[in-house]
Amino acid sequence: MKLTFIGTGYVGLVSGVCFSEIGNDVTCLDKDLGKIERLNRGEVPIYEPGLQELIAKNRELGRLRFTGDLTPAVEGAEAIFLCVGTPPLPNGEANLAFIEQAAQEIALAMNGYKIIATKSTVPVGTNDRIRDIVSRLTPHPFDVVSIPEFLREGSAIADTLHPDRIIIGTDSPEAAAKIAELHRPLTDRIMVTDVRSAEMIKYASNAFLATKISFINEIANICEKVGADVTDVAKGMGHDRRIGPSFLQAGIGYGGSCFPKDTNALIQIAGNVDYEFKLLKSVVEVNQGQRFNVMTKLRRSLGELGGKRIGVWGLAFKPDTDDVRESPALDIIGALLAEGAEVQAYDPVATANFKAIFGQADEVVWKEDPIEAARDCDALCLLTDWQEFKSLSLPEVQGVMRQNILIDGRNVYSSEQVNEADLRYYSVGRPHVG
Ligand code: NAD
Repeated sequence: MKLTFIGTGYVGLVSGVCFSEIGNDVTCLDKDLGKIERLNRGEVPIYEPGLQELIAKNRELGRLRFTGDLTPAVEGAEAIFLCVGTPPLPNGEANLAFIEQAAQEIALAMNGYKIIATKSTVPVGTNDRIRDIVSRLTPHPFDVVSIPEFLREGSAIADTLHPDRIIIGTDSPEAAAKIAELHRPLTDRIMVTDVRSAEMIKYASNAFLATKISFINEIANICEKVGADVTDVAKGMGHDRRIGPSFLQAGIGYGGSCFPKDTNALIQIAGNVDYEFKLLKSVVEVNQGQRFNVMTKLRRSLGELGGKRIGVWGLAFKPDTDDVRESPALDIIGALLAEGAEVQAYDPVATANFKAIFGQADEVVWKEDPIEAARDCDALCLLTDWQEFKSLSLPEVQGVMRQNILIDGRNVYSSEQVNEADLRYYSVGRPHVG
């Protein structure tokens, strides 16, 4: 199929590239012309393992191109995928300005029948709004499809090429059939439903996963007090097929551009129809508190943090991405600086993005190596479970530190690793480790 992806961020770029990989003719469009120029020079504006190679291959094969020129991109496409951002407004609601603008632009460029498919995460009712906007601006026929995206940054290519399921929400059987056919090489698990249910499936899925994370984090907090080990507890729970083992890793909570935004948006969606989503409100509250447990552990072991030097490992909200949106590291480093600590930080790929959005970047000493970030520190905090940190020698790390406190916010190290060094080690919900 001839496809155009509007918005060349994590979702639009990865999806566009993957659909070209399976043989479609793909145009990726963005209004950020700097991004388009970089892509056309062969640079990739985001860090996503494997993406660079796939882009190079499919451009060479002539089935993938990048442009800022909307009209030919719309005219030449059978289906247009909306992949623009839906960032949160101050009240938690999704900001639909980019969606509405893109819908208007598509409508004005249309030259015949198109499928307009929304991959962006949008509140229930938004695709109906898109239909209204487009129908007011064009005489041409079109169908609207909600096709929520479930990829995870860091494994986005594998998630797109081997999805757990594809949800297609539309009232047009013809559009459903075409979009299903497009996805058939990826999976047989294709579910067709109405537009509003598809929109809700995305929010309900993210809210449920966020609930699992906050649930296990609260169990971890209790484990710390009663002397149980949350990793064994999660393992024991996960053997129950009704529960399953995934998303039961205790830590400092979720971040990123999706879970925080989508949970808050769902609370608002419910609130708009006079329903108080009490459970999800608690999930958000627990998550926000969980990251600050790092501060509590630091204070408990060091006393006053003023003048203490704290090393931070990991700025990205999770490993294998350079995305720092809503990363716990933003709050934790902010709190450390507020208490007068000196912070030296390291991340394998996310430092530039972090500096760009963190208001006090000048007050942090940025390091290019994990050992250098630990050097002369009173305490070290591991905030992102990058593979690189897992394989470091803890005696070597301890050897360069001033004091020997390691706060492991992601339960990365085993008892054996910790015991090789003489560390005062604090993880999450594992009171006997270390
Ligand atoms: P992003 O911010 O990385 O990218 C959005 C892109 O859209 C930007 O490059 C921006 O310049 C471009 N854009 C905005 N308006 C435009 C317009 N009118 N024309 C052309 N380009 C335009 O966003 P993202 O992380 O890719 O997320 C996109 C959507 O997908 C969001 O709704 C998000 O919630 C959802 N989503 C994201 C993920 C994820 O892991 N990032 C996963 C699933 C769903």
